[in-house]
Amino acid sequence: MHESCGVFGVYAPNEDVARLTFFALFALQHRGQESSGIATADGQKIQAYARMGLVTQVFNEEALSRLTGYIAIGHNRYSTSGSSQICNAQPIIVGKGSETIAIAHNGNIVNTKHLYEELSQQGYTFNSSTDTEVIANLIISSTEKDWVDKIRYAMHRLQGVYSLTIMTNDRLFGVRDPLGVRPLCLGTINGGWVLASESCALDHIGANFMREIEPGEIVSIGDKGLESYREESGKRALCIFEYSYFARPDSTINGRLVYQARQAMGAGLAEEHPVEADLVVGVPDSSTIAAVGYAQKSGIPLADGLVKNRYVGRTFIEPDQRIRDLGVKLKYNPMPQVLKDKRIVMVDDSIVRGTTTPHVIKLLRKAGAKEVHMRICVPPIRYPCFFGVDMATYRELLAAQKTIPEIKDFIGADSLCYLSVEGLIKAVALPRNTFCLACFTGDYPIPIQIEMDKLALERSTEDEKLPFGMKQR
Ligand code: SF4
Repeated sequence: MHESCGVFGVYAPNEDVARLTFFALFALQHRGQESSGIATADGQKIQAYARMGLVTQVFNEEALSRLTGYIAIGHNRYSTSGSSQICNAQPIIVGKGSETIAIAHNGNIVNTKHLYEELSQQGYTFNSSTDTEVIANLIISSTEKDWVDKIRYAMHRLQGVYSLTIMTNDRLFGVRDPLGVRPLCLGTINGGWVLASESCALDHIGANFMREIEPGEIVSIGDKGLESYREESGKRALCIFEYSYFARPDSTINGRLVYQARQAMGAGLAEEHPVEADLVVGVPDSSTIAAVGYAQKSGIPLADGLVKNRYVGRTFIEPDQRIRDLGVKLKYNPMPQVLKDKRIVMVDDSIVRGTTTPHVIKLLRKAGAKEVHMRICVPPIRYPCFFGVDMATYRELLAAQKTIPEIKDFIGADSLCYLSVEGLIKAVALPRNTFCLACFTGDYPIPIQIEMDKLALERSTEDEKLPFGMKQR
């Protein structure tokens, strides 16, 4: 499962802002590994550098030294809209002279096609195939005079998910959609300000966490300091997968440490679905903390039965057929010395398409495991996500196609149980109406479900007809 991107922004006249952005992006690498980019502004002009690859592959001292100024934004991309090409790397820059902006986006806009057509008719041109360029052009197209009003205009027109960092020649903005589906937080550093997808990025650069950017809020940072503008939507819909999967465990979102939420998910699973077993094993890395919670609650010993090659991530070298046939073994290696003749509780963060789980279970059995009992940290995913997570059609969701006993047989487990919605809410320890739970419940937080269902149908059959290279993955 993937979603789109990590964003960062800094306004700090006393700092090397490009270098700070580099280290913040390095901390946010888990949110996107396809491309990375930084744009800086010095009060007069904007300059940018973006390439395909990991943060450490993209930047070197020379590239950073050219990015001068006192404001910067940065972006790590995993594509949800637009294909994997350098033209889609962010930050994206649009406009001319003093009307230029750079923009970095985490999310997914659902009315892109309509807005694209409208802007094209007005003469705006597009150099990428991303919805981010539509947002940028929408802001530029506003006839309002002030940047905050221009952004507000765009917010009124956009439907979907966006956590944005935006930069003009002399101002930095942080923007979060009215539902707050993706996180964005605010901090301070050495008399300046920072914005980041997750608080872990602030920790790594020595910034102090201040607060979350609220859903529907625009913060403007310039020579007058920080100003905040907010339109209350009355609704919140943070993607709950931030706690179970996307965010780093050392990030705090809405005051809840992700690590503690994951541990509580494991404990909740042990409470809801106990089983007689010898060892608890988490699928590394996202489920190892939940496995700790399951082990602590159940009293069953925890073991590292499966080792993950942490550097497998994105590679531009294709494996040959023999290596490809090894499939998941490229990623995970089981230890027979630990697993042989044991009844295993295997804790995993989710089952989406069910492509990996059967291989992992096979690996455990090959290594000698006597029984494998799967315990999943979230409820069955039965409904597509239209908000940027790459599970966009019913057809590709295993739990939309099969019953739980059928899934158990399909993946080859001895038993299979999921955490309930109530158990999940209890684990994150925040009110239920804080979250989007749509992929479990079908209750979408924005009232355009019918159009989105139509889009899903279209995407499942006619990828090539869609604008912006949107693809079914
Ligand atoms: S539908 Fe699911 S994956 Fe998508 S934003 Fe909502 S909770 Fe997250």
